[in-house]
Amino acid sequence: MTIERASELLASARTGLAMTGAGVSAESGIPTFRGEGGLWSRYDPVKVASIDSFLEDPAGYWRVARERGPAVLAARPNPGHIALAALEKAGRLVGVVTQNTDGLHQDAGSRRVVELHGSGRAVQCLDCGTRERRSEVQARLDVEMPPRCRACGGALLKPTVVLFGEPMPIPAVEEAFTLAKAADVMLVVGSSLVVYPAAQVPLKAVEAGAALIVVNAEPTPFDRLATVVIHGRSGEVLPQLAALLSAA
Ligand code: NAD
Ligand code: ZN
Repeated sequence: MTIERASELLASARTGLAMTGAGVSAESGIPTFRGEGGLWSRYDPVKVASIDSFLEDPAGYWRVARERGPAVLAARPNPGHIALAALEKAGRLVGVVTQNTDGLHQDAGSRRVVELHGSGRAVQCLDCGTRERRSEVQARLDVEMPPRCRACGGALLKPTVVLFGEPMPIPAVEEAFTLAKAADVMLVVGSSLVVYPAAQVPLKAVEAGAALIVVNAEPTPFDRLATVVIHGRSGEVLPQLAALLSAA
């Protein structure tokens, strides 16, 4: 059975690393971008989530955020996030590199979380740099569109997420590559693995000799590089994996 094989690999891992995409949060009620029911069937991502369109029409961006924000802010970690935190606690993973911006790994108790695409839990003023909590800004979207900085008197606020056309945060990318190169087992969960440079992380790990485990609802372009591929829901597969490991 593939889950048994994955648990054997992780049982001997000393520098195991997880990387997650939107799929790990799907069972928390946050829609993925791609795939069935994905947001991209309803919105054009380049129109909504690029820095150029944000600057051209910030109210347009924030109107989508007003619709999408409450569900994301209210989401709770699911058994997949919780299993990853348990694997870290048990020493089978050194941490998790994530493409997600929802903060659910931290809520689940993961201690080392490398956020490649920033965090949706905060917003930042594009002029003075002052940060505010996203939840506070979310609460005033009904009366203030787009929301503006209160510290400097009116510059635009942008969530601290990486939009299309923006550079990735260099420290996070460097940390992810360092962990990947040192990893003996690389566990990728809920990522379509088509967004670069994020997909480069498991590639680096494999090149450096790591065994690759892929857990995803659908096939990915990396399945052929993997030692173990498990097509399933992360909220079901990961707790089984964690249970096998703790029983071992
Ligand atoms: P993606 O949306 O491109 O792909 C998600 C993958 O997860 C798909 O291959 C899908 O088959 C799979 N999946 C769906 N439900 C699953 C489940 N229950 N268990 C396991 N797999 C499941 O996501 P991506 O590759 O992460 O790239 C899109 C970008 O969008 C990310 O970089 C991220 O920044 C951003 N995003 C973040 C969130 C979030 O923070 N939760 C949500 C949507 C998109
Ligand atoms: Zn400001």
